[in-house]
Amino acid sequence: MPEKVFNGIPASGGIAIGPAYLYHPEGFSISRRNLKADEVQEELDRYQTALEKTRAQISEMEEKMKEKLGKEHAAIFQAHQVVLEDPLFKEEIPNAIQTRRLNAEFLLNESLEKFKAVMESLEDGYFRERGGDIQDVSNRLMRNLDGGEKDQLKKLDREVVIIANDLAPSDTVTMSTDTIKGFCTEVGGRTSHVAIVARSLGLPAIVGMQTITSEIQEGDMVIVDGNKGLVVVNPLPQTLKQYERLKENYEAFQKSLETLKGLPAKTPDGHQVTLAANIEIPQELDELARHGAEGIGLYRTEFLFMNRESVPTEEEQYVAYKELATKTGVSPAIIRTLDLGGDKFLTHLNPFQESNPFLGLRAIRLCLKQPEIFKPQLRAILRAAAHGPIKIMFPMISTLAEIRESKVILNQCIQQLKKEGEIFRTGIEVGAMIEIPSAAIIADLLIQEVDFLSIGTNDLIQYTLAVDRINESVAYLYDPGNPAILRLIKMTVDACHRAGKWVGMCGEMAGDPIFAPLLLGMGLDEFSVSVSVIPEIKKVIRLMPFDKAREIALAALQVKTSEEVLKLIRDNVPPELKAILF
Ligand code: PEP
Ligand code: MG
Repeated sequence: MPEKVFNGIPASGGIAIGPAYLYHPEGFSISRRNLKADEVQEELDRYQTALEKTRAQISEMEEKMKEKLGKEHAAIFQAHQVVLEDPLFKEEIPNAIQTRRLNAEFLLNESLEKFKAVMESLEDGYFRERGGDIQDVSNRLMRNLDGGEKDQLKKLDREVVIIANDLAPSDTVTMSTDTIKGFCTEVGGRTSHVAIVARSLGLPAIVGMQTITSEIQEGDMVIVDGNKGLVVVNPLPQTLKQYERLKENYEAFQKSLETLKGLPAKTPDGHQVTLAANIEIPQELDELARHGAEGIGLYRTEFLFMNRESVPTEEEQYVAYKELATKTGVSPAIIRTLDLGGDKFLTHLNPFQESNPFLGLRAIRLCLKQPEIFKPQLRAILRAAAHGPIKIMFPMISTLAEIRESKVILNQCIQQLKKEGEIFRTGIEVGAMIEIPSAAIIADLLIQEVDFLSIGTNDLIQYTLAVDRINESVAYLYDPGNPAILRLIKMTVDACHRAGKWVGMCGEMAGDPIFAPLLLGMGLDEFSVSVSVIPEIKKVIRLMPFDKAREIALAALQVKTSEEVLKLIRDNVPPELKAILF
């Protein structure tokens, strides 16, 4: 096999070397199995049984939907029944089982691949949508064929590099770094959920690799260079050697940063900021001390809602938040209320497919609409806060009304808990995320309602520049250095300081070492970043004089392009910092 190199979007630094594991998110075992003559009838029966089961399941869902929401909402399932009557399912696959003597999963997958290629080439939206229906029905049928192997990623018993079209949040929360050494996905951008998890776990990763699953075979030796966004497949011996050396150097550099663990994030001229951690999955809590996190600036609560059929109860959430309070001790921990929607989507909470989920019923909007989900979470947070300095933060605020309404509901929870005689924290600090341009523009009004603001650049960039954060095709436009973004950040920081309050950033921009001098100079009080990048950000802050950082920030707000912003940073940081950053 010749050595081949592919390019993607670097999502998480470091180098991984290992055999490829091709992951199919639905967990289907679609390997090809030849049938003996006397196995054909058995396979046909197995296929028919799965077909019947699929039909029955769709009818059941149709009935449930009719009961709950009325006839018109059940149309989707009627469409699925029609799809199941298609000759593809009724004739072609059974015929192929007989004539080609192959297993049903393989034949189903093969037909689907051909079918998908045709559908994707069609311009017509109607037909594309029908393609989605066929995919849904096929996935169900595939599951009923019992070819599915659930929790593949959890069951791995060897070290691998994952190659996948995409990894869903439900996949990533169960990943183990004992076996998974790195990953590449075809879709996604630097701030899609999968990229954030990779950084949280400190796993080298590349996203937006377009067609990589068809370029790599299971078991191929691969090198993932997460620093440069390169994948080398079947490397030559000299390439392998070169990367082994690079891997060693990278790991030695990371190790050298461990000495900073107990030191403050303070500039040489004495300006100190808070360097906190973003928590995406619970196992990261055990890493806080090792990396020297000063509390938690963003605790994402979505993982509690994943990989389960129902919403977690108040009690279950209380246990999780109390564990957080116990593990962080005296350091503050900011719990963000549920941010579902966008690329974190749970069918049991929002059964309607939205055509623009990022602009839809996401985060605080969903919570305000469904207090039966929101209130138990708020109550659990208030109760857990009795065990440690927990703060609360609302995501996706776009108007003043949303923040006021959230606070009214929080107050109702406080009154209820009081009445019930429960133990909880009174006077909990409340903050809002600035993730939407409208919120940044009225940061001066929002800050009057809360104790702090935290800038979520992952979404702020997406919504300001109209760039889908998970779409690799427009990733080139996703630019934290864009002057529009810098102005919104500055407006937010200044509004908080004018009100005498603090402001943080928990978007991924805060964890990008290149931007640390600039953000420092803008006056950011708290940087909340993936646990694994804390040491590097601390290193940058400790080498960057605050005076100089302020000069950079002032000048950066005057220049016209992000290239000029980067040049300003490069030309004005001290030489020892330049060597690390550029
Ligand atoms: C953000 O948008 O910057 C953020 C921190 O939230 P999330 O990435 O979870 O959307
Ligand atoms: Mg966000």
